[in-house]
Amino acid sequence: MPEKLVSVAVDGPVGAGKSSIARAAARKLGFIYVDTGALYRAVGLYCRRSGADMSSHDDIAARLPEIRTEIRLIDGVQHIFLNGEDVSEEIRLPEISMAASAVSAVPAVRAALLDMQRKLARENNVIMDGRDIGTVVLPDAEVKIFLTAAPEIRAKRRYDELCAKGVSATFEEVLADLNKRDYDDSHRAVAPLKQAEDAVLADTSGLDFEQSCELVCSIIKEKL
Ligand code: C5P
Repeated sequence: MPEKLVSVAVDGPVGAGKSSIARAAARKLGFIYVDTGALYRAVGLYCRRSGADMSSHDDIAARLPEIRTEIRLIDGVQHIFLNGEDVSEEIRLPEISMAASAVSAVPAVRAALLDMQRKLARENNVIMDGRDIGTVVLPDAEVKIFLTAAPEIRAKRRYDELCAKGVSATFEEVLADLNKRDYDDSHRAVAPLKQAEDAVLADTSGLDFEQSCELVCSIIKEKL
């Protein structure tokens, strides 16, 4: 009998450190790490490239048949493909963050991406991060963590990341983007960002990266 597979859901607002912490925890546990935001970013990128009206749910939904997204693990690292093209770098641009948030409010987009996420969890031990993993995608996940930190701290981390990549943006712009995205993500009608009732809250405001990883790993170990 194969061992039962384990799913760890990590949700939270922008810049809480979900992806870097979840990636490190996955490496420690030998699980695969799935960044579900990349899927919404790829759909957002396609819609922007093809000139969609980003405020129209109908326009965005009408483009779905033209969009094929695929997550591939290359040397253990997630790459996201949009209609066969590796767009892993391009989806990280700040304008694509906003496009991702816009398309993520469209029910048809969420429905189209659901099966792919669930299939990955059916076939692997996963740590999956996003906004609705513990509430909608994997409601039966063995471990659910809601990772957060104060908005200014999250904005500072995001700002430092963008500076390191050479993307030009001011701290104020990054903070405003982050607040808008969190507001929109928390107030949309379908699968809004919220802590699942059975999720453990992990606030990393006063913690550095190593300490945040330790906290998350200890929550996971305690639950498994
Ligand atoms: O996590 P990341 O910042 O890459 O996500 C980009 C956007 O995709 C989020 O702001 C959110 O609107 C959307 N998203 C979502 N559900 C997920 C993951 C991401 O709605 N599970």
